[in-house]
Amino acid sequence: MSAVQVDPSISKVPIETNAKDQTTVCVLCSHNCGLTVDINDGHIENIRADASSPISHGYICNKGFSVDHYVNHAQRLSQPLKRKPDGGFEQIGWEQAIAEIAERLSTIITQHSPRACGLVGIGGQANHLDAPYGVTFLSLMKSRRFFN
Ligand code: SF4
Repeated sequence: MSAVQVDPSISKVPIETNAKDQTTVCVLCSHNCGLTVDINDGHIENIRADASSPISHGYICNKGFSVDHYVNHAQRLSQPLKRKPDGGFEQIGWEQAIAEIAERLSTIITQHSPRACGLVGIGGQANHLDAPYGVTFLSLMKSRRFFN
């Protein structure tokens, strides 16, 4: 098995790029059904329901069988994009993105209060991992503005 090390801000655990019968979970909705996947060169090749999952006991829906479509979609963002004055986007690094967002949020909170910041999202079509991150981030900003 080989593994790829990702930025520690994303994960402290190396992600296997080649693996058979790798257990994981589907994150396409809040049920987090158990999956067993085969990974080849970083791409999911086979997806099965994980019968040993204490959550789903061998069940997954059609979205779970299609999780590779979302993981490897051509329009999926893997780097921050910054809006340019002409309306286009430029790719920037994570440190720059986080620093600029933090500075702008700090300015908004100072000038207008935490109530000026809100979270819009956590719908039902793609990924619910934004929920724990987003809601925790809102709480740290002392805002209760949550729309979904
Ligand atoms: S999308 Fe389907 S497989 Fe994925 S967690 Fe939800 S119910 Fe389970």
